[in-house]
Amino acid sequence: MRPFTYHRPATSDDAIAAIGAEKEARFLAGGTNLIDLMKMGVEHPARLIDITRLPLASIEERQGGVRIGAMVRNSDAANHALIRERYPVLSEALLAGASPQLRNLASMGGNLMQRTRCFYFYDPSYSECNKRVPGSGCAALSGYNRIHAILGASEQCIATNPSDMSVALAALDAVVQVKGPRGERSIPILDLHRLPGNTPQQDTNLRPGELITAIDLPALAWARRSHYLKVRDRNSYAFALLSVAALVDMDTDGTIRQARIALGGVAHKPWRIPQAEQLLVGKKPGDAAYHALADALLRGARPHRNNAFKVELARRSIIRALTTVAAMA
Ligand code: SF4
Repeated sequence: MRPFTYHRPATSDDAIAAIGAEKEARFLAGGTNLIDLMKMGVEHPARLIDITRLPLASIEERQGGVRIGAMVRNSDAANHALIRERYPVLSEALLAGASPQLRNLASMGGNLMQRTRCFYFYDPSYSECNKRVPGSGCAALSGYNRIHAILGASEQCIATNPSDMSVALAALDAVVQVKGPRGERSIPILDLHRLPGNTPQQDTNLRPGELITAIDLPALAWARRSHYLKVRDRNSYAFALLSVAALVDMDTDGTIRQARIALGGVAHKPWRIPQAEQLLVGKKPGDAAYHALADALLRGARPHRNNAFKVELARRSIIRALTTVAAMA
């Protein structure tokens, strides 16, 4: 591992000043991904800015919604009464991630920043990986691509975003608060992560030196009727082959008033098409409406040699998640 310097600031402003515009510096939160990447020789930061002591670890009601500090641990958020009662889809997504030990350490901000689990990205003995070494190629295109993207990928990269939490946040229309050298700004969650295009080395639209300070969940009474479905190779400590975050608002006449669906495990970012959700409005819950939505969400899917199964798996998972949520009391 390359030697690095270590700095532990007391305030957000100190942290931002410390990281400056230094490309080789990284914020260190729970470290559950970054330290692994350093040990594997994928990340080589020259400087770590330890943000674990910053006062960003509270969960509080705000404007009818809830603000979760970036340093709140995943397990604390998942088990908090406000999250469990008002946003069960988020609690379920957090509890579906990693292991209890990792959830006790991982932070909310760090979860947003975790990097793909593409095998070739994690193994520097493979020379071709545009995300790790821009311009080097993509070993996954001709390699074993069972876990890779079927939507929104490019010829440069077919990696997926590994976060369960981000899929739930996408369905909830969460807003990410950041602070940087040029001040504070709010980023809608769907604008935080990027599709790979020609620059797969950039996972997010954060600017240099920006620090995630909080995640805002909007006031959304009908989010109580929500569910996170995760499909994976084993029932614990495994990333999603595919996941669905679903919210359904039922009208008194038994039709769907509004719905939201986000998919995980299919693209370089949580996959959500709000216009497609309109297909459910005014419809009776049932397979016919759900199939139409699945068609719209999966339009343009481009599977690769080992992951064609994801298209049908996505369709069935969408239907199962919506059926579960629509049947909730
Ligand atoms: Fe690298 Fe992306 Fe290709 Fe994986 S899919 S090898 S992360 S460029």
